[in-house]
Amino acid sequence: MSTVPWMADAFRSNGLKVLEVTGWKTRGRPGTFEPRGVVFHHTASGRNGGSAPSIKTVLNGRPGIPGPLCQVLIGRDLTVRVIAAGRANHAGLGGPIIGIPKDSGNSFLIGVEVENDGVGETWTPGLLQTCDTVFATLLLGLRRQPAMLIGHKEWAPKRKIDPARTNAGLPTMDQVRARVTAKLRTMGHPDVRAASSGIHVVKAGDTLFRIALQHRMSVAELMKLNNLKSTLIKPGQKLKVRR
Ligand SMILES: [Zn+2]
Repeated sequence: MSTVPWMADAFRSNGLKVLEVTGWKTRGRPGTFEPRGVVFHHTASGRNGGSAPSIKTVLNGRPGIPGPLCQVLIGRDLTVRVIAAGRANHAGLGGPIIGIPKDSGNSFLIGVEVENDGVGETWTPGLLQTCDTVFATLLLGLRRQPAMLIGHKEWAPKRKIDPARTNAGLPTMDQVRARVTAKLRTMGHPDVRAASSGIHVVKAGDTLFRIALQHRMSVAELMKLNNLKSTLIKPGQKLKVRR
């Protein structure tokens, strides 16, 4: 099992306020942990509950779900609480997405929880900037692309709504990935590429070969993902592509 013991120093070096929760470097669930990406969650804690009311829960877990429940908890005070360097119970059943196999999110994804009630509590510009920096720092540390940041609701669309948009200033996940792309460029990521929306609208002159190349896929992969029986495509057709 690998761990991510570099998180606290990396957050601090990117200007974040960090609180290292005692024991974080050795905290984690047993089992595989080979992180390749990050999941964006919110805690759904009451907005008047203070800076980090979920700290005990994310450390100790809930009935039937032992902690830790995330690797990182961002408080309402914009302090980044580093919870665990090892595997955490945060993703649950879901996927496959972005190359992460079905139901194995906890093995391959770092969970970031943000204290927000998810039912209208404002996502302030400062909080969003803190989130951008946390996500960018983790992706840079993992040498991964912005496409490897997903919302919990993208991992498990039938079960999860977080991070929920409630007209409270939270951008869409595509917008969050665009913000993180911009942040990574300022942080010197060696090869950052903007995440696509995952949909390619066929233009006149497009071929499956060209579309596959553009999205770093094989033609076979592209055909399978879209259940295409032939290579014939027409302008205006929407194809699922790798993000
Ligand atoms: Zn979640």
